[in-house]
Amino acid sequence: MEITVHLGAALINTYARCGSIKESRRVFDGIPERDLISWTAIICGYGMHRLAEDAELLFRSDGVTFMGLLMGFSHKGLVQKGQQYYRRMIQQYGFKSTLEHHSSMVDKLGRAGRLDEAEEFIGNMDVEPDASVWCGLLNACKIYGNVDIGERVIEQILRIDPGYAGRYVLMSNIYAFMRCWDGVARMRLLMKENRISKPPGWSLIEIGGQMHIFLAFDKSHPRSNEIYNFLKDLEKRMRIEHYVPEIKCVLSKLDEEHKDDMLCGHSERLAIAFGILGTGDGEVLRVIKNLRVCVDCHTATQVHKIVKQEIVGRDAKRFHHFKDGACSCGDYW
Ligand SMILES: [Zn+2]
Ligand SMILES: [Zn+2]
Repeated sequence: MEITVHLGAALINTYARCGSIKESRRVFDGIPERDLISWTAIICGYGMHRLAEDAELLFRSDGVTFMGLLMGFSHKGLVQKGQQYYRRMIQQYGFKSTLEHHSSMVDKLGRAGRLDEAEEFIGNMDVEPDASVWCGLLNACKIYGNVDIGERVIEQILRIDPGYAGRYVLMSNIYAFMRCWDGVARMRLLMKENRISKPPGWSLIEIGGQMHIFLAFDKSHPRSNEIYNFLKDLEKRMRIEHYVPEIKCVLSKLDEEHKDDMLCGHSERLAIAFGILGTGDGEVLRVIKNLRVCVDCHTATQVHKIVKQEIVGRDAKRFHHFKDGACSCGDYW
């Protein structure tokens, strides 16, 4: 088929959403006459994957494309650049900033640890911030372990929209990180009062055209024994590479040894282990998780360089490209 502009943009978008940004670029390069739609699709694709440099190289100026570009600049150290483009968008090009643009700026400041500035930025917005703008800041509070700002933020979020379990869990994670067990209990109680239940975590992996789904501590897969043995063996090898389990990710007061076990059973761990067992070296593993990936699984996946496989993960929040012992998100998500 001839790749028309609209078909091209749809394909670019589809590949980007599936985690195959290289394929997106191939489609983009193959479109004979590119217009604003194709440019926007590829820049938003790069933005989705936080690939700022690539996005900037292709930059064209319109509101949506600015969005893709701003998302790309969410890396540490690129805050200033993001702020420059944000100002250019408003002052030079006269675009009105949307909630998405605001979200993206909050994300950038938060990522750089400038939590006070991010809170101030939200306070000065010319439109009413929605829950997702606040969630960006709450996420930064988790990364930097800031309970004070976190408490102010969760209050705003629950006032706007108390219906999402993930937000209570995020605040609960902040408390757990700082070992404030009272806070964890308070969030649990609040969830109960508001009748919110946490959806079970699951991860999905496609191997040989077949989908395999894993729940946490799942033992229902036919190769379950093999998977758990492989994980144990892998962990031993990872510890040689200086991997230390992030037991703060277990949100309760268990004894430390038990906590290690709790982490190893997370659904993405099972899916990735199965993926490594079921494919050859060099094959890219694609894993989808319905919730956010936890810090420990994120670290563990980076240490997976010992198995020499590229892993593309998509969690509830964003894409993670694990390659050569590092992740494209720069450890911020
Ligand atoms: Zn995990
Ligand atoms: Zn990552």
